[in-house]
Amino acid sequence: MEFSEQGSKNDILYWSKRLYQKEMSPSTSGNVSLKTSEGILITASGVCLNDMNEDDIVLIDYNGNLKSGNKKPSSEKIMHTEIYMRRDDINAIIHCHCPLITAFCVAGKSIKAPILPDFALMYDEIPLIPYFCPSTIQLADAVGNCFDLGNNVALLQNHGVVLGADTLQNAFYQLESIRAYVQTYFGAEVISCAKPLNKKQVAEIRQLYIKK
Ligand code: 13P
Ligand code: ZN
Repeated sequence: MEFSEQGSKNDILYWSKRLYQKEMSPSTSGNVSLKTSEGILITASGVCLNDMNEDDIVLIDYNGNLKSGNKKPSSEKIMHTEIYMRRDDINAIIHCHCPLITAFCVAGKSIKAPILPDFALMYDEIPLIPYFCPSTIQLADAVGNCFDLGNNVALLQNHGVVLGADTLQNAFYQLESIRAYVQTYFGAEVISCAKPLNKKQVAEIRQLYIKK
């Protein structure tokens, strides 16, 4: 599904503000993009996702070249184009440095304990990609390879998280769920330990939702 340019810019502005306001993309970190019939709309480099206006969203082609707009596109543009080129089903991408999720990236751990039914339903594991310098082709390539394997979300070691979905709304909700998972995980660890569901319980919840 592709959207008109004006509708897409409004969508980017709306969900970007929610990302900032939910403390998932502090300061000027993070970037958001959306596929359109003309190319890819992406946030400009160095802007705060809460304080943007339409002029802070630019149109690029699939090689990352600027097609329209007066600002510099996000420095992570190649990471976004790489995902779109490899996955036709992804129309929207969020990359952010959500502090809670990034704690896993800094600890060098993937997210995999099935501590909640909604997580167990969606994921076996959210993989961790080894560290590559931000904004590089090496990082974009590693992320592309990870999405090629069917992952819609990846943790970037010592950096942040990137997630793709059919719409920006779904990308935001999925990211918010992962953030909630991480908060719950940390809380449980502080109280005693985060006890996962067992294999039978995971199979049961998956079976239930397949039937629906
Ligand atoms: P931009 O401001 O260039 O989009 O970069 C932010 C970021 O998250 C870099 O990894
Ligand atoms: Zn980043």
